[in-house]
Order: sequence, then C-alpha cells, then structure tokens
Amino acid sequence: MTALAGSPRAVEPQAVADLRVAVVGSGPAGLYTAEAMVKQAAADGVEVEVDVLDRLPTPYGLVRYGVAPDHPSIRSIADYLRRVLELPRVRFLGGLCFGRDVTREMLLACYDAVVYATGAPLDKRLRVPGEDLPGSAAAADFVRWYCGHPDSDPAMFELDAEAVAVIGAGNVALDVARILAKPAAEFGATDVPEPVLAALAASRVREVHIISRRGPAQARFTPKELRELGEAPGFEVTVDPAQTDLDRFDPTGESSALAESDRRVRGNLAVIREWAGREPRECPRRVSVRFWERPVEIIGTDRVTALRVERTRPEAAGRVAGTGEFTELPVQLVLRSVGYQSVPLPGVPFDERRAVVPNAEGRVLGADGTPLAGEYVSGWLKRGATGVIGSNKSDAAQTVRALLADRARDARPAHRADRAAPRLAELLAARGVRPVSYADWLGIDEREHELATALGRGERVKLCGWDALDRACGRGRAARAGARP
Ligand code: NAP
Repeated sequence: MTALAGSPRAVEPQAVADLRVAVVGSGPAGLYTAEAMVKQAAADGVEVEVDVLDRLPTPYGLVRYGVAPDHPSIRSIADYLRRVLELPRVRFLGGLCFGRDVTREMLLACYDAVVYATGAPLDKRLRVPGEDLPGSAAAADFVRWYCGHPDSDPAMFELDAEAVAVIGAGNVALDVARILAKPAAEFGATDVPEPVLAALAASRVREVHIISRRGPAQARFTPKELRELGEAPGFEVTVDPAQTDLDRFDPTGESSALAESDRRVRGNLAVIREWAGREPRECPRRVSVRFWERPVEIIGTDRVTALRVERTRPEAAGRVAGTGEFTELPVQLVLRSVGYQSVPLPGVPFDERRAVVPNAEGRVLGADGTPLAGEYVSGWLKRGATGVIGSNKSDAAQTVRALLADRARDARPAHRADRAAPRLAELLAARGVRPVSYADWLGIDEREHELATALGRGERVKLCGWDALDRACGRGRAARAGARP
C-alpha cells in the first residue's frame, strides 16, 4: 500500500483496527504524525486507525493560519497534508476543544495511544515597560490577523501608523515587515480576507524598522527569506554599512567565527552586505534593518508614540550587554516577534521553563521522569518553536517509531484487548458535541473558492470569523460554542 494513495473523499474507518490512535492537532506536526503512523504501521503489518482532532473546523494549523499569504509554495504543503487526511485510515474531527469537548481521560479510554501536536500558539513577551499600550502587539497577532484566523478580530489592525518597529531577527519578523511594506495590490490575488486587504490598501505605513539585539551573524533569518525581502516590490531595504563590519562591532571575534563556520550565516551576510552597498533610491516605503539594539521601553500615554532602544555590545558565549547609549525611534506600532511558545494542555505534563511537554523521543514523561503509557508528543510542543515546517516530518517519524516499539513490546490495555473501549463519537454524542467532519471542512473550502471567483481574486479568499466558518460547514451556533477559546 502506498501511504498517500487515498481517494479524495471523507472516509469513516469501519473495522476495529489493531491500533487506534488519536492525534490532537491537525497542523503539520499532527498530520505528519498521522502519515508516519499509517506508513510505519503498514510496514509492521499493523492495522491502524488515526483520528486527527482540532479545535478549529479547518485543518492544516500554521500552514493555513501562519504561513504568509505571499508564500504560495509553502502554502502548497496543504496539498500534501490533504492527501494524508484523505487516507482511508485517517479521519478528521474538527471543532473539538481539548480540555472542554474532549478530555485526556476520554481519549485515553477510547484509543490505544494519544499524540499531542498542538504546536506553539503563544507569543513570547519582551518584559519591557509599555508593552501593553495600545499600538503594541505580538507579531503572532498580526500573523493571525492577515491569515484570517477566526479568533482574530478583522478590525484589530488599522495600520494608521506611519512608522512601525518589529522586534526580533527571525523569519516571522521578515514576514511581518514584508507584509507591512509591500503594496496592497500585491495581495489582491492571495487568500487574505477582504477586511485585511482593505486595511492594507488604506495603510499609512511608510517606514518599518526590524530591530535585532545581536549582530548580522547572529540573526536567525534564513538566506532565502532574507533575500526575498530585498527583492519584493514597492520598498527599499537599508542597513548601516558600518554594521556589516563584523570585527568592528564584535571584538569578541564570535561573529567572524560564525561567518566562517556556518553556511546560513554566510548567506545572510551576503544579502545584508549587498543591501548596505545599495545607492539610496526614492521609494514610497522603507524597511531598515538595525542590529545591536535592544528595546528597553515602549513609550506613550494613550497609545505608542516611540520605542526606546539601547545600543548593545557582544559579550562572551553569544550574550549581549547594554552600553548605556539610548535612542528613541518615533513609531506608532510595535510588533514583538521574539518567538512562540507552547501552552499546557489540561491534565498533560508540561515543563513550564522550556514550555514543552517533557518527553524522551516523543514519549510523554510523568513527574518521576518515566514514560506515561499511551501518551506521546510531536512537533513544536515536543521540541520548542524552532525549525521549518519540514522539520516536523522527521520529528513525527521519531515519535511514531517510539509508539510502535512500545506497542510491539507491551500488552494492549485490558479495555482495549476485549474491544470494549468506547468510541469517541459515542461519548461526544452523549455530551451533545458534533465534530466537524472532513466533508464539512470541504464545505468551507468550496465556499472560499467561490468567494475568490465572485470577487475576481485568485483561487481562494479566506472566510472571516467563526460565524462565516460555521455557516459554510453547516454547523449551528450551539455546536460551535464549545470550540471557542
Ligand atoms: P526565532 O527564529 O526564534 O527568532 C526570534 C528572534 O527574537 C531572535 O532574533 C531573538 O534574538 C529575538 N529575541 C528573543 N527574545 C528577545 C528579546 N527579549 N528582545 C529582543 N529580541 C529577542 O523566532 P520566529 O521568527 O518566531 O520563528 C519561529 C520559527 O518559525 C523559526 O524556526 C523560523 O525559521 C520559522 N519560520 C519559518 C518561516 C519560513 O521558512 N518562511 C517563516 C516564519 C517562521 P536572539 O537570537 O538574540 O535570542
């Protein structure tokens, strides 16, 4: 059997399988886990059923609600993940909030194993004064807004700021800066919701600062994404040429050593040096990339009016120290883009310090450090918010190897061995909860294609808000109420 040989339809698994697995989360981590389950189990001659649960009525997690709308090739990973959802042994159960509609106990009663793959939805904080002023927000909120996440208020970002500071030197900062700086017309054929397109068209943004507390060699950008920023239309990118002189800014020698040893760093430096050498030109918008500066205060009374940054200097082991030299940047919007973190799942062990589920190769560890029977984790919830989407594939394969090795070694739990385990569908029905099926999701999918055609806007335009999603998938208000955060 080829792992991705399913037909494009919603299939209800029929027979009682050897192994029944629930995967919580239908983003890349969850769906790569489902795919690995089907593939590896088939290789072991084990008949498996995988139910993939999600809080949202829509699958694909960050591929749908995190990848930038102008990155169609990364978005097309959804086509691959769709084929996983359409495997005969895989079933989508959307609109189920873990901890409310379904609990850990329910899943452990119904399945031989549960894999948690809920990602890292929470933004990290800066912990500087003024962070909660109107006009200061998480890049994660901005991303959810332009991706049309149903939890996001379409009116959240008016873009009436002329200058914006984006804090952090990772790929999310690049996405956010590019979306702010590109002309709105560039998004007409993308899937951004109509209110987002209108806000981008009315944007007053002229200047975006990307602020990195360390140097160009330590930035977490990847060269391809960095290069793309300089090639995008409608704005110019500037860098202080002096900052590209690594030894001048970093007498510790660490920057030069990184440039020598790390291909990604060399790629980034080539792009940054090319920008530093460009002749200034007239452009309606500008993105300036500023290194060796850290935010110390977001200034304003009713809303943000400036960002106070301190010049930093490198210390040993990649750390930085403040120099006492301060600058105030007049900005009206500050977006912190300093990484994501996972949130605890009710009843599931959680390492608060590392913000991950404690695990050994994907086996969830209890308080005494030993694996808990039947509980596994994959993706960002397992290893933290690092790596590109594809990194989740090998990560999921590792978790599934552990799960199948345990299953081959351990006897099936008694309630599973006599096949008397309850079915989740029955427990949900008893609680009056109706999950969103794959066929229901296809209703949303179709409606989004129709909307794009009606508006003359590309292939898909995202439906905005819970009510529109509920209508498109034929769900009533009562059924949906449980899925809201
Ligand atoms: P990230 O890559 O971890 O970058 C976070 C940035 O924030 C770093 O520059 C970090 O600086 C800085 N930072 C952290 N705490 C700070 C503080 N208190 N003050 C100032 N700066 C601070 O995170 P991300 O950009 O959110 O990306 C998450 C993951 O998604 C990454 O693996 C990324 O590659 C991936 N991603 C990929 C794509 C793509 O491939 N197109 C797009 C988006 C995201 P230090 O290094 O000094 O800590």
